[in-house]
Amino acid sequence: MKEVRVRFAPSPTGPLHIGGVRTALYNYLFAKQHGGKMLLRIEDTDSARFVTGAEEYIIEALKWLGITIDEGVGTGGPHAPYRQSERKMIYKKFVDQLLAKGLAYIAFDTPEQLEEKRQLVANFQYDASTRMQMKNSLTLSEIELNDLLEKELPFVVRIKIEPAQDIVVHDLIRGEVKVNSSVIDDKVLWKSSDGLPTYHLANIVDDHLMQISHVIRGEEWLPSAPLHVLLYRYLGWEDSMPQFAHLPLLLKPEGNGKLSKRDGDKLGFPVFPLEWLDPKTCEKSSGYREEGYFPEAVVNFLALLGWNPGTEQEILSMEELIQFFCLEKVSKSGAKFDYEKGKWFNHKYLQEKSNEELAQLYSLVLKEKGIATSEATLITIVSLIKERSNFIADFWEQSAFFFQAPSAYDEKAVQKRWKSETPALMNELITVLESIANFSSSNLEETVKAWIAEKEHNMGAVMNAFRLSIVGELKGPHMFDIISIIGKEQTISRLKTAIKMIAV
Ligand code: GLU
Repeated sequence: MKEVRVRFAPSPTGPLHIGGVRTALYNYLFAKQHGGKMLLRIEDTDSARFVTGAEEYIIEALKWLGITIDEGVGTGGPHAPYRQSERKMIYKKFVDQLLAKGLAYIAFDTPEQLEEKRQLVANFQYDASTRMQMKNSLTLSEIELNDLLEKELPFVVRIKIEPAQDIVVHDLIRGEVKVNSSVIDDKVLWKSSDGLPTYHLANIVDDHLMQISHVIRGEEWLPSAPLHVLLYRYLGWEDSMPQFAHLPLLLKPEGNGKLSKRDGDKLGFPVFPLEWLDPKTCEKSSGYREEGYFPEAVVNFLALLGWNPGTEQEILSMEELIQFFCLEKVSKSGAKFDYEKGKWFNHKYLQEKSNEELAQLYSLVLKEKGIATSEATLITIVSLIKERSNFIADFWEQSAFFFQAPSAYDEKAVQKRWKSETPALMNELITVLESIANFSSSNLEETVKAWIAEKEHNMGAVMNAFRLSIVGELKGPHMFDIISIIGKEQTISRLKTAIKMIAV
């Protein structure tokens, strides 16, 4: 196989959608597996759709996810520039080549004339069946043509598609895709108005010049592939044509239809890797990073949307993904976007993190709340609550009672667990706790349980009321771990408050 060189070629028309991120990831995995190169090319020839900040966003998102770029915008490389708007001069000569060979032609039809035609002819398509009725270099005399060119009337260059021919696209995922050329219109390849090529021409020229070996992209580009195959043929580059692989769509969580930003808004999950502030509308869209996802979890989650290693293993590091990834095993059908599964991945990755790292991350949250605590204590707290958390942001909910006494008591729990004899029981417990010098969790447990046994108290009655007094509700880690951390004074004070506050 020739050197693997793949590219991620987004258009900077907005924030990178999560589907685009998966495309970038699959390109990256494939490149790394084959010891090849991953390129980032910015396809910005459509100035009307350009959005400020989109390019920076794309670069930042890839960096966050650990998808490193070997060549491209932001990195540089032997084929620089990698931003198509800066490659204007490169494309023109190929346009001229196609014109000289009669494989493309110049067309002067104005948008109004084209619209008029569309109104007149049902399903109008600019192609072999209609091009001779239009205003182009095939219908104008040489004198007329030169006259218009001299007057600098705006024109476009269109590809001239031979009708009724089978075009075959060999796709590594879908196999042979056969399309009849009659369904393809004479697409615009270049515009005199800005001297820029359209997506199709720029894409092919650059893939060729940058020696791209595999084009791995979303399914939405499959309809363009036959035209691209033709362009390779017209430009005489058939022998170096890259191999195609069109990835399945990401589908809505409920199944049918393409995953959209609206699904995310409706169901409350991000569809973008990073938060995005729309420069025009000032509308903010949430991102996986800001929602507290770990980049490794997002990568793992996305990698399995449309591909699996063929084993039960679901937790896969970037290294393992690189090792196991297989383009031929990518599914043909769409992958349902299961957001809950995304949370599950984050939960799993959170468990894998060291308590030291988690404590460090949590300390930032606490600092904002103005809560100071020792590192050692925080490490212990985090070790007790991480199993119940998907995100660092869940830590507060799971551990607030370590830092502050309850301000209210869960009503249902009170009704069920706080009986007329409870205050006396809790007062007795206070006496027991007061006598304990060694406030370690194990010693506390041993002593309190010995007292319960000796007095033949009901274990549930004591422990539930105890928890209610300390936590405010019936949740949280092991009781003796909690009180060992908050200490004797705080434990007794909370018990006294509960006795006073909870009316029977
Ligand atoms: N510029 C196209 C996009 O925005 C690239 C498609 C391709 O990879 O060929 O996705």
